[in-house]
Amino acid sequence: MQLESLELAGRRALIRVDFNVPLNENREVTDDTRIRAAIPTIDYVLAQGGSVVLMSHLGRPKGIDPEWSLRHIVPTLEKLLGLSVQFAADCVDDVALDVSQSLKPGEVALLENLRFHKEEKEGDEFFAGQLAENGDVYINDAFGTAHRAHASTAIISRFFPEDKAYGRLLASEIDALKKVLAHPEKPLTAIIGGAKVSSKLGIIEHLIGRVDRLIIGGGMAYTFVQAQGGSIGNSLVESEMHTQALNILRKAEETGTELLLPTDTLVADQFAPDAATQVVPTDAIPDDWMGLDIGPATRVKFVEAVSTSRTILWNGPMGVFEMEAFAAGTNQVAEALARATEEHGAFTLIGGGDSVAAINQAGLADRVSYVSTGGGAMLEYLEGKELPGIAAMES
Ligand code: AMP
Repeated sequence: MQLESLELAGRRALIRVDFNVPLNENREVTDDTRIRAAIPTIDYVLAQGGSVVLMSHLGRPKGIDPEWSLRHIVPTLEKLLGLSVQFAADCVDDVALDVSQSLKPGEVALLENLRFHKEEKEGDEFFAGQLAENGDVYINDAFGTAHRAHASTAIISRFFPEDKAYGRLLASEIDALKKVLAHPEKPLTAIIGGAKVSSKLGIIEHLIGRVDRLIIGGGMAYTFVQAQGGSIGNSLVESEMHTQALNILRKAEETGTELLLPTDTLVADQFAPDAATQVVPTDAIPDDWMGLDIGPATRVKFVEAVSTSRTILWNGPMGVFEMEAFAAGTNQVAEALARATEEHGAFTLIGGGDSVAAINQAGLADRVSYVSTGGGAMLEYLEGKELPGIAAMES
């Protein structure tokens, strides 16, 4: 359901947001990206003459824990909204209702951390009903938790059969994912990197046959190289995944998916920023050396594949990008994505914690089409799984 089709004037919009932001030891917000991402939906409701009741989780508290109170978020939220925000010291019962039921149009309230109640994660229906009393309409704008069947993300939808909608953020996340998986402009290229094949296996299996090209980089590439008989020295490897790796290679051939693996590698004599380095063929890494980035020939090949694609999905770095000495591969791929977007009008979607960190580190986040805010949720969507938070809104 579209946000625009909700009747909002004079009504309270109960919005599930993702304010699970990092805090420092003084409990100050150190990265307000997720709060900023929620502002367009809040502003829209207020502009329509509604009031706003926000609910979120923060951290992983076991019961009530002042360390994880959403009260810590209020100053940042007030600054970003340019409004004062009322705080309810609980998310249900009289404490919450006293605040939510006295809200006037144009006012904003924030409820206390949902996870102070274990019923939230249990997806408890009674608790969801209690939460629902705080709003006349329900808006889900928390993409980061859309893969959880929690009370506030999925179960609560039942209490708003006619009055529920996606918020602006969730709608744009789904839209971006559909541009890649449902109706991509071709050629479609997926770049998958990071440490482990095992954590990306579901995505790779779902993407093969759907994408035209699959680029595999990062530490996970060595499992593929070793499975084919290459020598990978001390590089990261999951030898128990050989069968799966060979299956992926076979499936790529069967489905006509062009699969690109690194052909050369920047190796180091130790896992350290000041290690000695050299470039060697990926399947002939000397003993005692480890591959920490894709090599220069591979970078050229990957950049070329990106620059001739119309749609590009990127998840996972090409090397140990946290160390400058091994960041070039990741940075050059990031730059290629920005250029493909700007110069060829390609649609480029970046998601997953480390690729988002990498694109931010490269200062290129504003120059690609979309940077997803939901790591786990995006990965599950890319694995072809149904996300409970989305399914509940559609039913
Ligand atoms: P993931 O969480 O699976 O996406 O993996 C991200 C992590 O993989 C980052 O912290 C990278 O430093 C690490 N990584 C990427 N390439 C390599 C490599 N060749 N060797 C060791 N770690 C790597």
